[in-house]
This record gives sequence, C-alpha cells and structure tokens, in this order.
Amino acid sequence: MLAEGGYQVGELAKLYWPEGIEIESSNHLEAEMLTHELLNREQVVLFEPAIRFGDLFARVDILIKNGNEYQLIEVKAKSYDSSNPQILGTRGELKSEMRSYIEDVAFQAFIFKSVIPNARLKTFLMMPDKAKRVTVSGLNQLFKIERVGKHAAVITNPKANKTNIDRNILALVPTDEYIEMIFKDGLSVLGHKHRLHEIVNEWSAAYKIDQKIKPQPGSQCGKCEFRAILGDGLKDGFKECWNETYQLNEEDFTKGTVLDIFKFRGKDRLIAEGRIRMSSVLPDDIEEKDLGEQLSISERQWMQIRGIPPIEDQGGYWIAQDFLRREMNKWTYPYHFIDFETSTVAIPFHAGMRPYEPVAFQFSHHLMYADGRIEHAGEFLLTDLINFPNFKFAQALREQLDHDQGTVFMWSQHERTILNTIIEQIEKVDQPPVNAETLVNFLRSLTSKGGQREMYDLCKLSEQSFFHTSTKGRISIKKTLPAVMSSSNFLRRKYSQPIYGNLKGILSKNFTDTTWWVDNGNGVPKDPYNLLKEFAKDLLGEDLYSVDNDYDGLEITEGGAAATAYSRLQFEELQGHSRKKIEAALLRYCELDTLAMVMIVEGWKELIGANHA
Ligand code: SF4
Repeated sequence: MLAEGGYQVGELAKLYWPEGIEIESSNHLEAEMLTHELLNREQVVLFEPAIRFGDLFARVDILIKNGNEYQLIEVKAKSYDSSNPQILGTRGELKSEMRSYIEDVAFQAFIFKSVIPNARLKTFLMMPDKAKRVTVSGLNQLFKIERVGKHAAVITNPKANKTNIDRNILALVPTDEYIEMIFKDGLSVLGHKHRLHEIVNEWSAAYKIDQKIKPQPGSQCGKCEFRAILGDGLKDGFKECWNETYQLNEEDFTKGTVLDIFKFRGKDRLIAEGRIRMSSVLPDDIEEKDLGEQLSISERQWMQIRGIPPIEDQGGYWIAQDFLRREMNKWTYPYHFIDFETSTVAIPFHAGMRPYEPVAFQFSHHLMYADGRIEHAGEFLLTDLINFPNFKFAQALREQLDHDQGTVFMWSQHERTILNTIIEQIEKVDQPPVNAETLVNFLRSLTSKGGQREMYDLCKLSEQSFFHTSTKGRISIKKTLPAVMSSSNFLRRKYSQPIYGNLKGILSKNFTDTTWWVDNGNGVPKDPYNLLKEFAKDLLGEDLYSVDNDYDGLEITEGGAAATAYSRLQFEELQGHSRKKIEAALLRYCELDTLAMVMIVEGWKELIGANHA
C-alpha cells in the first residue's frame, strides 16, 4: 500500500464529496449507532459507515443516501482501464483478477439489502483509471503519511478541498450486473462456488467460536502469505496447513514439494492426486525436452527433482559450457551492467501522467573492461518532490552508455519495459526534452529487438545455462549470486580481500574497502545481500523493519523495498538526515545489484575457462 500509494486513492475519492461525513470510530457498535443515526437524514454522504446483519458486518467506503436511493461505492487501488474495460472474460464470466473485488461489493450489498430491503441500491467500484491523464502536478502530495510508532495515519492537506481535483482520474464503475452474477452463481472459493449467504454464515459461525476453517491447499499455496521466515520465531501457517492435510514433516519440507518445481504447470493436478512430495513426480508428469547445449525448462525441473546427473555434476552445479562460451563471444567490451529502480504509484506525481505509470528514479552502472578491470562507473538518483525524474534519468543513462558500443546487460526484461515507457512518455508529453529525437534514438538502440545494441538479458542466460542445487531451481539474481560465488574459486580469491571501494582495487561510489566473499563458517560464502541487512532499516524505517523480520521476505532486491523507500521519500514528512539515510541505502542496494551481475559473469567465465585471471 505504501509503495503504490494505495491509501491515497481512498483519500482522493473522499474529496469528490466534500460534504461527506466520516464515521471515525473503530468501535463496531459505536460506528453502527452513528451510521444508523446519520442515515435518518433524507440526504447524506457517509465515509466508512458500519452496517450489520446478524453476525455479518462491513464498513462501506462511501455510502450516498438520497431519499430511498442509495449508492454503495467500494474504492480500490486496483488499476482499471476505461478504454478497454476488462471485467468479463470471453465466455461472459467474471475475470479472475476482478472477481474478489466484485465479491467484496456483493458481500456489502448483501448485508445492506438484508438490513434495508426496500431501498433502491446501486453499487459501484471506484478505481484509478489508466486511460486518463492527470491535469495537475503534485496531486498525490496532498496526502501525506504521518507515522506514530507502528501506526500510520494519512493527513490530507487542508488545501486539498480548494485544489482543482482531477475528477477523471478515478473511474466510477457500476457493478450491479456483476454482483447479480455473484448472487446467482455464488462466491468462488478455491475453484468451488458456494452460495453467498450459506458460505458467509458458515464462516461467521466459525469466526464467532474461533474455530479454524479446514484448509484446502493447492497451487495457490506457493504464494501463501502465512509462511514464517526462518528464525523469526513465528508459527508457519503454510507448514501448518500442509502438515494437517498431507502429514508432511520438516524433512519433507526441506526436500521440497511439487510447489517448489520451477515453472511447473501441473501442480494442481498432482496435489489433487495427493502427490505432494517432490519425490512423487513420475516420468510421465513432465515431458523432458532436449534443447541441445542449453538447459530446457523441463531439464531444469528434472534436475530439481532427481538432482544433477552424476556425470554432469561439476560440484553442486551444472553449466552449459559451450552454449555460454558461444553467447559470450557475441558480447562487446566494455561491458555495461545496469539496473533500474522504479515506482508505479496509483496517483501520478506529475501532470500528463496516467495512474500507475512507471517513474524511473534510480539506476546503477558497472563497467567491465577487456582486461578484466571493473568499476562502478555511474549512478542516478532523483527523489525530490518537484522533478519528474524519467527524462533526466534517460539523459543520464545516455551520458553513461553512449561513449562506446559495448554490450549492455540487464537482469530480466524490466529495464527494457521501462525504457520503452520512457520513449512513449517523451513522444506524448507537451514539452519533451530539447534533444528528444536523439534521446529516443538512443533508447530505441537499447530496446529494439534484434538491434545492434539490444540489451542482453542475463537472467534468461542464467535460466538457459546454469543450475545450482542451492537455488532450488530459481533464477533471481539474489539466488544466483550466492550460488555462483560458492562455485567459483576466482570469486573467492578476488572478493575475500577488502578490494571493493578501494583505489587499488575496484572503484565504488558507495562502499569502501568492502569484502564481499565472507565465509559463513563452513566454506560457503555469506549471502552478500545479507551483508547489507543493516541498511534495510534505513530503507523501510524502524517501524516497518523489525529485527525479528528477515528482510528476505520483503524482497528488497526485487525492487519492492526500493519502491517503498521512494514512496517514503515522497509521502512522509522526513527530516533532512532521514532522507539522506534512505537515499544512501538506496544507492548501496542498487550498486550491489549491478555488482552482482559483474560477479556472476566473472564467475561463469571462470567456470567455462574463459576468465582473465
Ligand atoms: S497454505 Fe497458505 S495459502 Fe494454502 S491453504 Fe493454507 S493458508 Fe491458504
């Protein structure tokens, strides 16, 4: 919510009805009584009114009463595109990504109709409309976050009511026909439909006596939000469900379940057949596809299940030597490694932008020369509240990369997507940068498929050419870096010295005399991302980051925490030194991401016998 500015959507929606009255009490009974009293008025607009029917209770986002006509509005930060509304699928069914939102409205309407059966009710979802552009800058600066301990409150600027509020930016989508579908077909619970009044009564009865509802595990458990992070001392909801249903023990969890298999589409089928353990996968379940020198998805899956074939095991890893060598021969020195940090917030920062349009606020750039020299060559970070960073970002990137024709590396396609977005933005804004044409040509040279300088995706290369048992089949940079570090003697020798951020070693903009290869006591290197753990507090704030909470779960390296940190810089009233701490942490994390790419390439080069050393 913080990262996406989702809380702002609710506050902006309220500004559409300046006469609205907020029911502030968090006490259910008090809120109900106040709602009841205010609904005695002939006309009223209520925010957060409380409605109850038996044991069913809801706080409605916005309820508008006009005589016997009511409008019930549920405000969501989910993006909506009015130019291509996608609520129903091709067969006329509710699309899965919209279903839970419609079900939410249906539940509230069910309570409302039960309480006031004779009322004429219309229901709506209100969502940021990606088809619309804001006409004023700084709209989201009207809503600031104030933190008190672990609680955050949204403070709306008193000027907001007088500001020219963009009424277009939130779409009001009528949902009556869709909630009728829910009333008719039922709520969808793990692939099964249940009649709404029956299932909510069943759940509310269980809730009342604090009785656990029997879990129905499936492939959705791969993203279970109740997993405990190792060492945090909390109970693990995932293990509880899977132990209760399939009697798995700790050893089974360590060995892995079908949920752990990389890009495996047959999880639900195997789970339905009760084949849960990795060892229960049979040859017919995954057809092995041979792609010659490179690793196919199915070969990667079988390596996870059966282990690396002994004859091909290089010591806990497998590497596509010839394929890697051929790919590396296509690269041109100096190598440029880049990584972007971006943010997509619901309410745009700047006039002319659409909701959820990406903001590119940071990059890091490492260089590797033909003689093996490495340097952290450049970085960009723009977090102030006034400047729209994207064009300055593109300009700074051009200044970094336009001196030569060296290969530009990224990890996954995110960087390409962002550069394509910036091209679109340059072409659509009223006041493009002065050198717009040059800038667009430069950006296109990096993003055009098949172009001479098309950016090279190291993540894809990792998927095709490297498997390490410790990665559990995963290919994120955070999993790949420690795996390559533990396989490469070259990396061990080089980075077990404090050479990083040293004039005689590798130049760095944010580190001094840093040792990245640190033995964890059993000959395996500590995860370099863990070495940055102390800075996670600076990024997220003391209250979001708890010492019991391994930052692993916050996916800092995937950009989640960076985007959250950026939102903090935008929406919290921070003192100068707090801003500086957050910015310093952002710079370190981004630098490690591009250094990680450098180390992975250095490690692979050694493993295929092509290193400089
Ligand atoms: S493991 Fe998690 S996702 Fe799966 S049923 Fe249990 S709580 Fe739900």
